[in-house]
Amino acid sequence: MHPIHIQQAPDTSELGVRFPHTRCVNCGTHQGLAEGVLELRQTTYLLVAGTELLLRFPVVSCERCEATLARRALSLPQRLFLGALSIATVLTFVFLAVSLDLDMPAWLKSNWFAASVIGGGVPAWLWLERHRPEHPQTSYYQPIRLKRLKRSFFGGRIERMVLGFTHADVLREFTALNRPLIDAGVLGAERA
Ligand SMILES: [Zn+2]
Repeated sequence: MHPIHIQQAPDTSELGVRFPHTRCVNCGTHQGLAEGVLELRQTTYLLVAGTELLLRFPVVSCERCEATLARRALSLPQRLFLGALSIATVLTFVFLAVSLDLDMPAWLKSNWFAASVIGGGVPAWLWLERHRPEHPQTSYYQPIRLKRLKRSFFGGRIERMVLGFTHADVLREFTALNRPLIDAGVLGAERA
């Protein structure tokens, strides 16, 4: 069964959060900037149903980093799941081949488990490694992330939001711009 998604996209302008508009939020350059939209999602699963909260913020980025605004970072559990899935796939085929006594090298027959873990794990690891930022970018993925979100049970109003930044100067400028909200405990900013 597919999870049912109830998507909500509240107006973020009423939060009053301001982003630095003088530098790219990923690489920090002051040149060739263009307006972009950063979409941050939070998905909450409740058995088969899930609610997805979509927050949109106007940010600026340079042309090179534009694509990173839309690339959602894979979390550690997602990375581990990807690796496990890749290993399980290879393992299934090798195990089948061994049980059917197919013609295969002797070393594979005696080390089929280790060979599958390496054969499935290495491609997954290489695939994840390929997704590295190009200097001076600070991330291959979204340079600003939603770290934590607390909403009121009734009405769903956002009570507290913590954002993570991959660029130290963007974090510093964001903190300075939003000092009143941060002091009031509504907003938090930290390293991604
Ligand atoms: Zn950039």
